[in-house]
Amino acid sequence: MPLRTSDDHAALLRRHGLQVTAQRLAVLRAVADRPHQTANDIDAVVRAQIGAVSRQAVYDALGILIDKGVLRRIQPAGSPARYEDRVGDNHHHLICRICGETVDVDCAVGDVPCLTAADDAGYEIDEAEVIYWGRCPSCATAPPVPSARRGA
Ligand SMILES: [Zn+2]
Ligand SMILES: [Zn+2]
Ligand SMILES: [Zn+2]
Repeated sequence: MPLRTSDDHAALLRRHGLQVTAQRLAVLRAVADRPHQTANDIDAVVRAQIGAVSRQAVYDALGILIDKGVLRRIQPAGSPARYEDRVGDNHHHLICRICGETVDVDCAVGDVPCLTAADDAGYEIDEAEVIYWGRCPSCATAPPVPSARRGA
């Protein structure tokens, strides 16, 4: 995937009818540099980058970028929302139950695509939210957590 410059990001914002602001550019860059971060992480990155910006401004920028379809929000059950700039391709995610590491996975190949619902009830379907939960390779090979912390 080509590295996006801030010129590309400015063009991307304009294409979606959005004004180009320092906050929006910084949010886009933070998400592009490291997809699947939480709003909290993005806020920290953006504030380290452009300093004088409120948490609310960062969250507002994220919200509008989601609304306009520039970014995609993933909402895994029981964990904070994550953000990415890979939009519009109905890809899915693998999430580690232990460390939260999240990676992209293409829609299952060789099977009926999951956008083809058994019964669409007349809906125009554009996304199927599929999350594969499990343990990432490093957590799967890590020594077991001491039992005192289990089942708490
Ligand atoms: Zn893990
Ligand atoms: Zn993704
Ligand atoms: Zn799929």
